[in-house]
Amino acid sequence: MKVLVINCGSSSLKYQLIDSVSEIALAVGICERIGQGISCLKHTPNGGEKVVIETPMENHEVAIKMVLDALTDKNHGVIKSLEEIGAVGHRVVHGGEKFATSTIITDEVIQAIEDCNDLAPLHNPANLIGIRACANLIKGVPMVAVFDTAFHQTMPAKAYLYGIPHEYYDKYKIRKYGFHGTSHSFVSKRAAEFAGIDINNSKIIVCHLGNGASITAVLNGKSIDTSMGFTPLAGLVMGTRSGNIDPSIIEFIAKKENKNIDQIMNLLNKESGVQGMSDVSSDFRDINDAMDNGNEMARTAFDVFVYRVAKCIGGYVAAMNGVDVIAFTAGVGENDHKVREDVCQYLGYLGVTIDLEKNMTRSKEIMLTTPESTTKVCIMPTNEELAIARETVGLL
Ligand code: AMP
Repeated sequence: MKVLVINCGSSSLKYQLIDSVSEIALAVGICERIGQGISCLKHTPNGGEKVVIETPMENHEVAIKMVLDALTDKNHGVIKSLEEIGAVGHRVVHGGEKFATSTIITDEVIQAIEDCNDLAPLHNPANLIGIRACANLIKGVPMVAVFDTAFHQTMPAKAYLYGIPHEYYDKYKIRKYGFHGTSHSFVSKRAAEFAGIDINNSKIIVCHLGNGASITAVLNGKSIDTSMGFTPLAGLVMGTRSGNIDPSIIEFIAKKENKNIDQIMNLLNKESGVQGMSDVSSDFRDINDAMDNGNEMARTAFDVFVYRVAKCIGGYVAAMNGVDVIAFTAGVGENDHKVREDVCQYLGYLGVTIDLEKNMTRSKEIMLTTPESTTKVCIMPTNEELAIARETVGLL
């Protein structure tokens, strides 16, 4: 079956058409700047040249129409007609407490996703637009919603409750949800296989370190704690997000700088993290270059990032009373050897020793630890689109 995987952001739309048997992506692409004047579709057929089309896309429905045209185009298309698409898998950011697994999309499911809009006001409405647009344009094709939050629904109350009055959980469901669940699930399963251990009897820590970053403790295949929270702003220091801070800082800055709550949230989401600390960039390639050139602020931002990762791993070792495998994944985790090396320097108490030559590997499954190392550390590339395609086919 050919599965179209759709990941709708507020002004972008990423897609892949995946053959579920060979698990090859027949085409991958992205529509950018949707609804912002001149939009752009970048489409790459497997083994072919990237095609870039610049044209206005006033909304997501227009963007999806462009994607379907690109997939069936005579020159750069990969299918003859839309009938070849057997299913559509949608990434949906927030499933609240309603969705602990992926689900086939029905009118009731659309309503339930809409009910979660409050919890992810930037993301869920965009995801719903994508779902509705596909329902209009490829009529009758089954669709599945795969939620970023679902994998973490196994967390116990002691991990997901905040130390605030219970009425706010009762009234508004304010709690930790966690994100990147599709990636944490995919990587933990594969890491167990790769390390030759039974996932049902394992302690795995997945470090998903990308522009957004989160770490999950996976005990016997289930998420028992994760670093992101009620929103993806919590936890680690990220590219542009602050991660955990003392909540009183919000009031303090608001008063000192005469900022309103929207301005403060923008500051914490978009102007903080490694970018805000270094004044260089949110991209670790730029941070590394700046460090090489002796930039002290970049060095400090890097050190803070690494220190937080190491402390979070330590917390999850305590939560699981041990760890068998630590897996690095996503843009930074898969590519930045310096981040991995520095994090592992903190892990001597786990008996971790890594092979520095192997650690130079990028974006490939590889065990980084030496045979004597008592805890295993690996690079495990994530593939959220493939995970969504698998979930979709599995459900149908
Ligand atoms: P993601 O959100 O998983 O796509 O990760 C994106 C981030 O990965 C970028 O912002 C970079 O910080 C980081 N990244 C990508 N390639 C490299 C690299 N070769 N070295 C260091 N960091 C990288």
